[in-house]
Amino acid sequence: MLITAGPTHEPIDAVRYIGNRSSGRLGVCLAEAARDAGWQVTLLLGPAALTPPKGVRTLRFQSAADLAALLKERFPRCDVLVMAAAVADYRPARARRRKLARRGRKLLLELEPTPDLVATCAVRKRPGQRIIGFALEEEAKLAARARAKLRRKGLDAIVANPLETMGADRIRAVVYAADGRTVRPAGGQRGLTKAAFARWLVRWCGAAT
Ligand code: C5P
Repeated sequence: MLITAGPTHEPIDAVRYIGNRSSGRLGVCLAEAARDAGWQVTLLLGPAALTPPKGVRTLRFQSAADLAALLKERFPRCDVLVMAAAVADYRPARARRRKLARRGRKLLLELEPTPDLVATCAVRKRPGQRIIGFALEEEAKLAARARAKLRRKGLDAIVANPLETMGADRIRAVVYAADGRTVRPAGGQRGLTKAAFARWLVRWCGAAT
């Protein structure tokens, strides 16, 4: 099982970046749960302040470009990709090699969209491989947007969770599968710890194999 976790840092210049508040905790819990369930796990972990789990091969990335390179190499070798990383949707179009100097006027940063990494994997998917993506959206639009992403990105399933999940200890999530099923962990309405949710999702992945 190949699991991605954490934010990306998109360089602005030699010392600055654009990032997000993903803690990477759910992805690390998923890696631990998969390891404990007997999967051979590779974790691709972004710039999060977390200790990589013991017994899990962990490779680090900083930017979406780094993660793209790791996925290109690792995705063909996995059976299941769980794409929990909070990949930036935009990055500076041109990262300056030096440190930008402070000047007393406006500074405009031009941003370009990042490639959709999980959608790129889905295009290259071989028979038997499965891909699970994540959707983090405001509650009112969560179901519709998650289902749209499931189709647009060519995923096998998508974990839909509200914005409050980011950085929190608990998660209240629903899984929409490509075959139209909606699956929820027992007790999921109140929210589960990320470790408990991870164990449930790994079991679901195993059962759906
Ligand atoms: O489009 P959005 O960012 O909401 O989609 C979330 C899902 O897509 C997550 O599984 C995330 O890891 C993945 N993603 C990606 N490449 C991007 C942006 C998001 O693989 N550039």
